[in-house]
Amino acid sequence: MNAATGRFAPSPSGRVHIGNLFTSMLAWLSAKKQGGRVVLRIEDLDTRRCTPEYARQLQDDFQWLGLTWDEGASVGGVHAPYEQSKRTALYRDALERLRALGLVYPCFCTRAELHAAAAPHRSDGQTVYPGTCRNLTAAEVAQRTGKRPPAYRLRVPDETITVRDGHMGTYTESLRRDCGDFLLRRSDGLYAYQLAVVVDDADMGVTEVVRGSDLLSSTPRQLLLYRLLGLTPPTFYHVPLLLAQDGRRLSKRDRDLNLSVLRARSVLGKLAFLAGFHPTAEPVRVAELLSAFDWRAVPVQDIIVPEDLFPV
Ligand code: GLU
Repeated sequence: MNAATGRFAPSPSGRVHIGNLFTSMLAWLSAKKQGGRVVLRIEDLDTRRCTPEYARQLQDDFQWLGLTWDEGASVGGVHAPYEQSKRTALYRDALERLRALGLVYPCFCTRAELHAAAAPHRSDGQTVYPGTCRNLTAAEVAQRTGKRPPAYRLRVPDETITVRDGHMGTYTESLRRDCGDFLLRRSDGLYAYQLAVVVDDADMGVTEVVRGSDLLSSTPRQLLLYRLLGLTPPTFYHVPLLLAQDGRRLSKRDRDLNLSVLRARSVLGKLAFLAGFHPTAEPVRVAELLSAFDWRAVPVQDIIVPEDLFPV
């Protein structure tokens, strides 16, 4: 039997925050506790938002925390490449397989039309596609294709899918009612997350997916894709999100909670404490030290660093 294979699947669209690291830590622990391995895949499909610089930085952050990976970006492995932007041939093949099953149709709806027509999704704010382009005739498709490139959607069966989550218990969704025909490829040619993540987790032999609970509602769609593509699904463990004080989800824009800022503040607080003008070793911003800074507080003698100040 294959050992457990977990994965980190970050999107390099900003500096990782502590919520991303929280999930990644649990993914690492869960795989390693079983003597398993971890794969790092860079989910950079959205080329407008993702950058190689963020991809590099997140690897630094993971490494700094000791969240190692056995296969994936930078270290390589048999399933290379590990950047989704370089794996589109696999997604195209999967789309073709679904098309051969008669389950894919082109959709010409604009964002504005969707917004106007769609009923809101129950839990994650996504919209339920009302099926506008589901039954277009060949002539209608030909006529519309001339005007704008279509997106492609999966024709979902009228079926209820239950996720048996390893951590959250069960989650049930009616595909027609709660989700609707979902995107496989956008009109600008980008493959949808739902398709790419299934193709990649299956291809990379991932046996357990640990990720934020915001993706629980994506899991029925993914289970459907596993089944349609004849792939074995992993075990899913959805974990709580870390929220800001006001209950908002952390986002990559919350600079305050990214690792470089936290690292910097924590070290600065200790240095300022040693320098004598910061009453405790608590984390601090450098600008906050300005008012307290005073040469008279700084010792003249060399300073022995207390053992517990920088625990290793
Ligand atoms: N790339 C997604 C993210 O960074 C995670 C997707 C997944 O774990 O399935 O939020």
